Amino acid sequence: MKGLVDRNVCCSYGMCVEMIDEVFSFDDDDKLLVKDEIKPEWEERVRFACEQCPAQALSVED
Ligand code: SF4
Repeated sequence: MKGLVDRNVCCSYGMCVEMIDEVFSFDDDDKLLVKDEIKPEWEERVRFACEQCPAQALSVED
């Protein structure tokens, strides 16, 4: 599974980073970074983070 972020709509609220910082983090300019390969044990939390993102900026592809 791969995580995708639409940086045009991400507002850097950081909710996804708080939920699973193994996958999501910010660079020095507060732009969201998403780990390329999402381990199976992270998938459930990543899907939940996608649902909860207030800007609907996150998605996943299998
Ligand atoms: S929760 Fe959504 S808006 Fe907030 S940092 Fe993550 S992707 Fe961006």
